[in-house]
Amino acid sequence: MAKTPGTALDNALDRVFTEDDFVRMFFDEYNLTELSPGRRREILRAIFAGHFGDYTNALPQQPPSLAKLREPFLENSSRLGYSFGDQLPAWAGLHEGNALPVLELEEVLRSMFWAGEVQNPLRYEWQNSLLQPVGGMDMLWRAFLKQSVPGNRTVADLVVLGRPVTAIESTGNSVTVAYEGGSEKADFCVSTMTPKQLAKVFRSADSNYAECLNKFDYIPSTKVGWQTKARFWEVGDGPLYQPGHEPIYGGISWMKTDWPTSLRQAFQAEKNGSPLTAEKIRELYAQADQPTRDRQWSTLISQIWYPSSGFHSQRGVLTAAYNRGREARVFGALSREDRISLALKGGEKLHPGYSNHVMQETALTVSWQGMPYFEGGWDNHTSRKPQTRPFYEKLNRQYNPHLNVYLAGDYMSYLPGWQEGSLGSAEIVVDLLCERVKST
Ligand SMILES: Cc1cc2nc3c(=O)[nH]c(=O)nc-3n(C[C@H](O)[C@H](O)[C@H](O)COP(=O)(O)OP(=O)(O)OC[C@H]3O[C@@H](n4cnc5c(N)ncnc54)[C@H](O)[C@@H]3O)c2cc1C
Repeated sequence: MAKTPGTALDNALDRVFTEDDFVRMFFDEYNLTELSPGRRREILRAIFAGHFGDYTNALPQQPPSLAKLREPFLENSSRLGYSFGDQLPAWAGLHEGNALPVLELEEVLRSMFWAGEVQNPLRYEWQNSLLQPVGGMDMLWRAFLKQSVPGNRTVADLVVLGRPVTAIESTGNSVTVAYEGGSEKADFCVSTMTPKQLAKVFRSADSNYAECLNKFDYIPSTKVGWQTKARFWEVGDGPLYQPGHEPIYGGISWMKTDWPTSLRQAFQAEKNGSPLTAEKIRELYAQADQPTRDRQWSTLISQIWYPSSGFHSQRGVLTAAYNRGREARVFGALSREDRISLALKGGEKLHPGYSNHVMQETALTVSWQGMPYFEGGWDNHTSRKPQTRPFYEKLNRQYNPHLNVYLAGDYMSYLPGWQEGSLGSAEIVVDLLCERVKST
């Protein structure tokens, strides 16, 4: 994006934000119904393009006032885009293009696209990126580390890594935090570890408090990522304007899961009381034949994320699979090799020839539910679920602090799984501590 050089604001923005501060919204849903990529695109456009006005036709009773309201929608418009094929869409010269006809409401509804992730950019917690830190999200905590603290030091001088906390004891006047090989005593402790981890080590906590902490339930999350030899998604992988082959600049392709029957049955059995272990998942995978793995198990990748910066540079890094919930449990149970193999097959469904572009030796897979000191990706909305909400509220009202131990973290917010939630809860704790120290 062109910038006017020289102003203080420009200079500041140069340091903080990329030039690629726009991300094209891209949606494609690979769905195992018989829909062609072109049809999928038309349906997505129909959902976004305001054609709902045309669908008022489908209402059994039409109040007269509706006719007036519908007028703007009835014009012959190009909201849905143009047909592809022998001729170009609307362009220069005499290429007028063929505007697409309105889709039948039933087809749009039956696609179920409208009920899914397609709405994310309009949801409160999502929305399209406008700005992003140069160098990625890591730059946020790196910037915190550089801030000065009294004694000619920076925050980095206060941070100690690689010392897992093994016990917390508090009398109410002070707190002692023990780790392998030593301990520290302080007036207060602010804990950001996950609630169940804290419940295990906070020895002097009362049982009602521990009960609240143990109500938090974390959602599994698994990712696969790798570098690619070329940014094939940006140049498009077919003739220009061919649906399903248009260039992609940032955003996500969603994959709809067509669950393998054996897995569906196993999850159903779990609901009826027969636990589904990681070992059992591995067994089911081992029993599946290759065509079933390629066709169904590979759709468990859920999404592919494209980089939103460095457009048209030589190489790129793709999030090749990003699963949450049940899909993540399955991926997390599988070996690294099996996750990689499924991610390759899944990508192939969206981008024929995908495997040739991927540098498999750079593959990285992470399963948050399997990481030491984590329980999963993020808290599953303990603050909002009717059965757990009272425990969340009790922690906030009654137990922050409990015996001089304060709680901060995204789980202590209505925005779990978002940095905003963790920063908000940190602000609350800082305020509480300042008030307390000032009043003593
Ligand atoms: C896959 C994934 C994708 C995400 N995507 C986004 C996104 O796009 N946007 C967004 O805003 N947020 C995203 N998040 C959420 C974001 O990462 C969190 O909201 C944020 O990191 C939470 O910060 P926190 O300080 O509360 O906890 P954490 O960052 O989890 O910090 C807690 C720390 O406590 C440490 N710890 C635990 N136990 C002990 C112990 N016994 N001793 C010592 N240390 C311990 C842990 O190692 C960890 O470093 C994502 C999270 C995941 C997992």
